[in-house]
Amino acid sequence: MPFNSTPLSIPTHAELNEAYFVECDKQDSLASFRGQFELADGLIYLNGNSLGVLPTAAKTRMQEVISTEWGTGLIRSWNTHSWINLPQRIGGKLAKIVGAKEHEVIVCDSTSINLFKLAAAAIKLNPGRTKIVTEPGNFPTDLYILNGVKNFIGQQIEIVTVPSHEITQHIDSDTALVCLTHVHYKSGTMLDMAAITKAAHDQGALMMWDLSHSTGAVPVDLNKAHADLAVGCGYKYLNGGPGAPAFLYVAEQHIEKLQQPLTGWFGHANAFAMSDDYEAASGIEKTLCGTTPVIAASALEVGVDIMCQVDFAQLREKSLSLSEHFIKLMEPLCEKYGFELATPLEPSQRGSQVSYKHSEGYAIMQALIHQNIIGDFRAPEILRFGFAPLYVQFIDLWNTVQALDTIMRNETWNRPEFKTRSKVT
Ligand SMILES: *Cc1c(COP(=O)(O)O)cnc(C)c1O
Repeated sequence: MPFNSTPLSIPTHAELNEAYFVECDKQDSLASFRGQFELADGLIYLNGNSLGVLPTAAKTRMQEVISTEWGTGLIRSWNTHSWINLPQRIGGKLAKIVGAKEHEVIVCDSTSINLFKLAAAAIKLNPGRTKIVTEPGNFPTDLYILNGVKNFIGQQIEIVTVPSHEITQHIDSDTALVCLTHVHYKSGTMLDMAAITKAAHDQGALMMWDLSHSTGAVPVDLNKAHADLAVGCGYKYLNGGPGAPAFLYVAEQHIEKLQQPLTGWFGHANAFAMSDDYEAASGIEKTLCGTTPVIAASALEVGVDIMCQVDFAQLREKSLSLSEHFIKLMEPLCEKYGFELATPLEPSQRGSQVSYKHSEGYAIMQALIHQNIIGDFRAPEILRFGFAPLYVQFIDLWNTVQALDTIMRNETWNRPEFKTRSKVT
């Protein structure tokens, strides 16, 4: 019963063979989800943490949105096809996936823009305080945006960066906001959302979580953790398509007071009154800015609808089993070829990806991609392997590590074509 065994009790290396992984896939309670996605024969896709795959239903949905809703319905579709409610409708569905109430979540803009709106709003919600606490090595856009807020806010703000394991000691009575990414994009480390949120609240600070690498990858319960604010990405584990709109969450008790800086007409209490004066909507809609990208939002909804069918306890169990087996398979390669695990061994501290450091990481990943095994590389030396539980199979782990072993043994990575860096790594 390989799949049902607890993630930590994995057979010895001698017992880990192709047949074992085939058997794991037979027992996988989520196996049927894979059929809902477009995955080419022979492709091993371990990059759903960066760009999720195409749900087959999105192809027909896009045809319908383009031909019928846009092509035929034209402007009428804002009402007849409820384009106007897309942000709330998809947000309401996402709420179930992140442990929030329907009226606390809305789909809009990009994660970067949502970070800006909510970080600026947090400073206003918590007046008199001067610090935003985050971690060094957070996702670049998070750090850049927090600095952007600091530069434009018109009051003295200090960005304090401390490693996540020390963060609770650096939250004090001057801290307006603590802003952290729940699952780290490079290391795959998952932070204790409830404990850190409590530490922020104990000092009167607000807590914002970036859920970009969590949503659809691990169970998230924003309400249970008493999180104040959150943002997240639509094109990663939610499979919303390249550049899909992002989402944001504002806890119910903050919605009324929240003021955000991008006061566009979609956030107006009555946009079509065409008034000269801005009056914020009373609900979560006040966080909207401009017109919804209808086609992109409609594609995202397909991915969210699939995710709504998932039992997240099963998803977590499979995710941890995948990462645990992968780590086990990689052990001999770490010894032989110098890969260094960059992801916590402790399952509760792991999201749904596993990363390794290697000085030749870029070329090694290119050699793997050349064999149709797609992970990615993050400078300066991280190879990332993302395990989107809805479509990654156990046999993929076996085949990936076999291929990697061959690449290292034959030094295939050492070819010039694998060393030229593309713009996007
Ligand atoms: C992917 C990701 C983003 C993406 O931001 P965009 O505005 O969509 O480019 C932001 N934050 C984190 C932590 C991410 O992983």
